[in-house]
Amino acid sequence: MTAHDPQGEGAPEQGQGEPVPSAFPPIVADVTSALFRQFLDLLPDALIVVDEQGYLVQVNAQATTVFGYSREELLGQSLDLLLPERFREIHRRHAAHYFKAPRLRPMGIGLRLFARRKDNSEIPVEISLSPLRVGEQLYVIAAVRDMTAQRRAEREKALLLQNLSVQGELLNQAYDAIIVRDPLDRILLWNRGAERLYGWPAQEALGRISTRLLKTGFPEGEVAVRTVLEQNGQWEGELTQVCRDGRLVVVESRQALVRDQQGQVLATLEINRDISERRQRERETQAMLAGHLSLLEQLFEALPFAVALVAGEQARLLLANQAVRRVWGTDWPPGLPFLEFLQRHGIVISDQRGKALTPEELVTLRVLREQQAISLYQEQVRRADGTLLPVLVSALPLHVPPEALQGERLRQCEPGEPLALVIHQDVTPLKEADELKDEFISIAAHELRTPLAALTGYAEMLLRQTERGHGPPLATWQREALEEIQQGTARLVSLTEELLDLSRLQAGRLQLQRLPANLVPLVRQVVRRLQPTTARHQLTVQAPAEPLVALIDPHRLEQVLTNLVENAIKYSPQGGPVEVRVAPERDGRAILISVQDHGIGIPRHQQGQIGGRFMRAENARAWGIEGTGLGLYLARALVEQHGGRLWFESEEGQGSTFFVRLPLLREESEEGCEQRLDSEASAATPGLPEAGA
Ligand code: ADP
Repeated sequence: MTAHDPQGEGAPEQGQGEPVPSAFPPIVADVTSALFRQFLDLLPDALIVVDEQGYLVQVNAQATTVFGYSREELLGQSLDLLLPERFREIHRRHAAHYFKAPRLRPMGIGLRLFARRKDNSEIPVEISLSPLRVGEQLYVIAAVRDMTAQRRAEREKALLLQNLSVQGELLNQAYDAIIVRDPLDRILLWNRGAERLYGWPAQEALGRISTRLLKTGFPEGEVAVRTVLEQNGQWEGELTQVCRDGRLVVVESRQALVRDQQGQVLATLEINRDISERRQRERETQAMLAGHLSLLEQLFEALPFAVALVAGEQARLLLANQAVRRVWGTDWPPGLPFLEFLQRHGIVISDQRGKALTPEELVTLRVLREQQAISLYQEQVRRADGTLLPVLVSALPLHVPPEALQGERLRQCEPGEPLALVIHQDVTPLKEADELKDEFISIAAHELRTPLAALTGYAEMLLRQTERGHGPPLATWQREALEEIQQGTARLVSLTEELLDLSRLQAGRLQLQRLPANLVPLVRQVVRRLQPTTARHQLTVQAPAEPLVALIDPHRLEQVLTNLVENAIKYSPQGGPVEVRVAPERDGRAILISVQDHGIGIPRHQQGQIGGRFMRAENARAWGIEGTGLGLYLARALVEQHGGRLWFESEEGQGSTFFVRLPLLREESEEGCEQRLDSEASAATPGLPEAGA
């Protein structure tokens, strides 16, 4: 397309190329007058004047802005310049049509029109056309409105509407009741959740005063709620409300003020969640808990043991049941540390034998320090009035989460402080029964002695005299029966001896006849005596050549060693070596005797109890090995009376080693005794397997 000269200078000749106006008519000169142009330029729409051939003969300032061309670039150009390619053909047809019957009308009704800018971009436009006849010449004035901003606004509006409808739907989907109120509390919005919860449909609720409609109850007072809302812009809390059917609901309410830019309150947004059921369940749970608690409290109080919950290394009392008073003979006030309580009331705690215990030894304090359970420890309580109470004390360290420490008294316990439950069990009745039993044992053992002696004596006499040919010979079964009687009575004699020892020990009448003696020959003698009792075991002694002298009751010590070696034999039923060792300890102050076997051992979980009266391990019974559980108890008591110690190490299925440590006597007092025992030793049976040191 050729450039058209708007000024008429150098106008191309007609008939060449595209049709161009031959010259501007007078009106054009007029419309180009400065005044008119200024007027046109003030118009908000782009104005273009097109002649019948489709050339631009005039444009206003807005047209240059809209299309991005300068006025000079536009004038004289074909209108095609401003049309997107795809519209050009159709436009030409429409234009021809229009010029046949020109009139004022909007262009492209029902069509979305676009114009092309200099930068090739397209803009949505609306065009209205009006014909302008100047003399013979017909022009068309097209007012072109750039619709870009409007279309964008329309799109945004459509999007907004879409969003709003989605949000509205969301509000309706919300399970919670959502209410928007105006500053006078009139309901502006009432979602489906509100309809569901309160029973009023939106059309009935809208416009009503919400607090009146719902008879809202404010547990903290309405004024308080409004004040918080005013100050913080929001409030959260519980409300009670009444539904249409009169049902009372408890709601968890969140409210927020919506303000305009000036800070003026426009509305209050209220979101209410029905928690009636939850509250109901909580009430039920609380009632149940209260029930459990009261039951536990009753049990706690009804317990026949004194139960105390103590805290801190000083064992401050937190909680105690009534029985605590019965044990101590007085009240232990909460918060008072244990030692202070004892001192204040002149209470002394001692061991079984009456030796006062130091604070370090008291179970109530030990458990808090050591953080380990202590069970059934025997203590004796001497109360201010002098009465004595034997007690069994058990204590358990407690590991309680801090939130469990609720309640007035429990709160006196600092987080991280040790806590323990201490139980004092009054065992006076048990002790009495025990004493009665001891008495019975003592009497029975005494009474048994004489008939047993007769039985043993007569059985022996019958056997021996018959052997010597006095009286008729015995049939085999008679001899076997007599031997059986002899063995049985021997066992009974040993049992009665143990029982008598036990009752002597209980009564504090087990006296030692101590004298300095060399332990080495004593040990050898025991081993030599017991070797013939077994063919399956090899008994060996390891001992130094030099004497190891201690102040001992030789008879009692022999009893101890006999028990240990007999046990080593008895509890290794498969046979094997039994090794006895005697040696001075490194510091030269004590003698250590050990008896090692490779037998059934003692189960770990029972090792703490072995050595107690009548205490036997499960595996000993399971193997069917007979015994009373008294030997070790007596042995330990005897060793302790010697100022020594008896203990053991054992592994179930591997074997055991029992140790006896006795104080070594200094050299100056050794003479005399050594000779006595050595002379005994010289009478010993030769040939005993022995691994001497
Ligand atoms: P008992 O008459 O039952 O042998 P003791 O008082 O001598 O009684 O021993 C107590 C318990 O210790 C035994 O019943 C047994 O369970 C265990 N015991 C003692 N010595 C040994 C040992 N050498 N090996 C395994 N268990 C042993």
